[in-house]
Amino acid sequence: MNKSSEKYSKIGIMGGTFDPIHYGHLVIAEQIRCEYNLEKVIFIPAGIPPHKSNLCVTDSKHRYLMTLLATITNPHFEVSKIELESNKISYTIHTIEKLKKIYHEDTELYFITGADAICELDTWKDVKRLTQLCQFIAATRPGLKLSHVDAKIKEFQNKYNALIRKINLPALAISSTDIRNRVKEGQSIKYLLPESVEYYIYKNKLYE
Ligand code: ATP
Ligand code: MG
Repeated sequence: MNKSSEKYSKIGIMGGTFDPIHYGHLVIAEQIRCEYNLEKVIFIPAGIPPHKSNLCVTDSKHRYLMTLLATITNPHFEVSKIELESNKISYTIHTIEKLKKIYHEDTELYFITGADAICELDTWKDVKRLTQLCQFIAATRPGLKLSHVDAKIKEFQNKYNALIRKINLPALAISSTDIRNRVKEGQSIKYLLPESVEYYIYKNKLYE
């Protein structure tokens, strides 16, 4: 992995399984990019996600291509294969350590997550070290009690001295699980995700 020749001050990292990517992911990445003046957001499809390693996850080639299609119209979005280059379980700490080497030491990394993911932060590998290397921005997500999310964030701030901010965004009750179920049942997925991704799913007979 080569060192970046460009110097950035703030970069957003959007990790996910993206199976498939949908408007929930795209909206939070774009809103947080604007709100926090991030120069770009790097979407990083997970290789083998630790919390989903026992589930059946779609081939990384498809998840990478769908993420590329979905982000292509935004000049501030890019997609990284960093977690797809190894067939081991991908841990966020290893990805962030690699990115720290690629970018200038002063570049601040902001890890973007949904509120459901941030509540699980203490199950992530090397969480203490991870919180020293990046800040977190958690977007609210329908289905979660705000008081629970606030309590969890406070707990991690105290326990790890973590920098975690919460942002309230327009609620999008969209999930990849629901999209996969809809395809399986022959229901419409139109307007839940970019049209290019919708066509990609049908063309490659995913989730049937
Ligand atoms: P699945 O149902 O398969 O778990 P998902 O929709 O949760 O899929 P992931 O790829 O697991 O998507 O999510 C990646 C990140 O995006 C996580 O941090 C998750 O919390 C966040 N996220 C996904 N959908 C939304 C949404 N509708 N609103 C806010 N955050 C979201
Ligand atoms: Mg999820």
